[in-house]
Amino acid sequence: MRQATIIGCGPAGISTAIYLKRSNIDCLVIGKDFGALKDYPKTIENYYGFKDPISGNALISGGIDQAKRLGIEVITDDVIALFDRGSFFEIKTKSDTFTSKTVILATGKVRLTLDVPGFRTYKGKGVSMCAACDGYFYKKKKLAVIGSGAYMQNELNYLKRLTDDITVFTNGDTLTDTLDLPVIFEPLKALIGDQKVTHIETHLNKYPVDGVFLAIGAPSSLEFASQLGVIVEKGNVSVDENYQTNIPGLFAAGDIIGGKLQIAKAVYDGMNTADSVIKYLKLQTT
Ligand SMILES: Cc1cc2nc3c(=O)[nH]c(=O)nc-3n(C[C@H](O)[C@H](O)[C@H](O)COP(=O)(O)OP(=O)(O)OC[C@H]3O[C@@H](n4cnc5c(N)ncnc54)[C@H](O)[C@@H]3O)c2cc1C
Repeated sequence: MRQATIIGCGPAGISTAIYLKRSNIDCLVIGKDFGALKDYPKTIENYYGFKDPISGNALISGGIDQAKRLGIEVITDDVIALFDRGSFFEIKTKSDTFTSKTVILATGKVRLTLDVPGFRTYKGKGVSMCAACDGYFYKKKKLAVIGSGAYMQNELNYLKRLTDDITVFTNGDTLTDTLDLPVIFEPLKALIGDQKVTHIETHLNKYPVDGVFLAIGAPSSLEFASQLGVIVEKGNVSVDENYQTNIPGLFAAGDIIGGKLQIAKAVYDGMNTADSVIKYLKLQTT
């Protein structure tokens, strides 16, 4: 069991880890990529300490290398689910499962999205981003799950308990595993409907649906947060003055909690979050 697990290896996640490690708290960092600054074609010129402009990739990989030099374990993986087990959390990635006394969400601002006409119109009107949150409303209904990887499998496992009428739409992608239910590989053309979504249209066909669950790539903090019942306001995970969410032991830092979306602020959040995590862990042992 880890003391602290940080989801996200951007400025907020890595600075949390550095402050934790230097206070003798062993932590694990799991990040899927370089986050907001991944492949940013321009350079960063407003962050302290760099005489010359620095690329996003160089800044982020520098942070990760710094953490590793301090002995922090940083792994590259997609976190696909997070569970509150009472006195600890279970973190499920594409390839492993970890347990931890505390979890810090530092996954930035990215949200699941689908670049297909109708997605925005029907989001929340039959189109859901979270099986654990909305699956209940679709008992015995005809569902579509859009996705092709581990996160799709995770959502599918949940929805299969509610209905046996599920079709997976890979939107042109190949599947990472074989499935025992119908799979449509055709690229999507549109989500169509009236008051709510009623069909998925590809270039070849129109498929009737009662509900659509989006599960492409990896979920963002907002999906984890919603699954756990964390309060989210205006797209930001709500935290108190200690960077703790309404779930004890679950903290959040960086872009995901809103405010100024800047590296300096994410680093500041990380430092403060580490302090709060240390205090929280101390209270658990006294
Ligand atoms: C194009 C662009 C240019 C910018 N330029 C500047 C600038 O010049 N100066 C400045 O100060 N700020 C700039 N920013 C803002 C700055 O990049 C962000 O404020 C900062 O990166 C936020 O840090 P973060 O750690 O909160 O999130 P991020 O840096 O976005 O890191 C999020 C981390 O979470 C990980 N993650 C997400 N989901 C999962 C998952 N399911 N499983 C595992 N890991 C996951 C990602 O892989 C990543 O490691 C820019 C942003 C953009 C988009």
